[in-house]
Amino acid sequence: MICVTFFRQILIESIVFSIFGADTHDVHIINTNKLHYPLNSFSNKHQSGSLMAPTLFPVQFQMCSLSSGSSGNCYFVGSDSQGILIDAGISTRRIRKTLEEIGVGLNLIKAVFITHDHIDHINALTLLSKKYQIPIYCTEGTWKGILSNRTTFDLDQRMFRPLTPGLPVEIAGMVVESFPVSHDARDAVGYHISNLNRKLTIATDLGHIGEQAAHYLKKADILVIESNYDEAMLLNGRYPQHLKERVHGLKGHMCNAHTADFVAEIYHTRISHILLCHLSAENNHPATALETLTQSLKRKGFDFKPHTIIEALPRGKRSPLYVFE
Ligand SMILES: [Zn+2]
Ligand SMILES: [Zn+2]
Repeated sequence: MICVTFFRQILIESIVFSIFGADTHDVHIINTNKLHYPLNSFSNKHQSGSLMAPTLFPVQFQMCSLSSGSSGNCYFVGSDSQGILIDAGISTRRIRKTLEEIGVGLNLIKAVFITHDHIDHINALTLLSKKYQIPIYCTEGTWKGILSNRTTFDLDQRMFRPLTPGLPVEIAGMVVESFPVSHDARDAVGYHISNLNRKLTIATDLGHIGEQAAHYLKKADILVIESNYDEAMLLNGRYPQHLKERVHGLKGHMCNAHTADFVAEIYHTRISHILLCHLSAENNHPATALETLTQSLKRKGFDFKPHTIIEALPRGKRSPLYVFE
């Protein structure tokens, strides 16, 4: 009954919104004060509810990494009819072309959500905002960082949508929540994205997994988690000392071993995908990251479950299109 009330509320807000001329990029920010139950109590039993508009909470949930790593990060999450981008750290042309490969036009992108203002996450924002009028969701701190970046200072500032960590946004048939992460950028965040069926958490560019990141990773059944470097490779590699310290620091990046141990700690059989992201070209190999993870899982007594897909997202090219039923 409580959930029915919730869906009725969203539905009514959607109808009111469309009657009063919202453009295709407009979204609803859910006022959590109005909610009588936590958002994570979505469950399959509400799927067939008559109050559920088919486009509001599509059953199918898709994700594709267009690029992952320090040369550029961009992820598509959505359905075949609408979606969002998480980060836009490659060229707009490449975003458009790669999306076309998976059958998604840029016109279906309702917003881009930014994790933080490093250039490998914001490169395309000028064109996305000016030419395509795509709203940009990010924290105030990230927005200030974006405006002070010489490559993006000229973007369309009207497209800014301030984001408050913990306050959910309903968009493109999904609910998006942000949570703070520890990184050397202002107000950096990760994202938890859910629909009726599935919960995806993306935690990239973080020096360690803090309490809030752990909370959102634990409740996901699809994990996109950074596994940036192999400790020995970083230590013995060519990076200058200050860069080694930055990467290794609490506000830097996750190493394979820490990611693997954390995932093994929280692993449960409902997790269908573990996708390692933001791998370093200099200090990591996909096979090394995957081996470190599988060893940690084995030490915890978890054998490969056939239903859990464990992969490293490729650098510089797109991943397969993951379809989560
Ligand atoms: Zn990055
Ligand atoms: Zn970064």
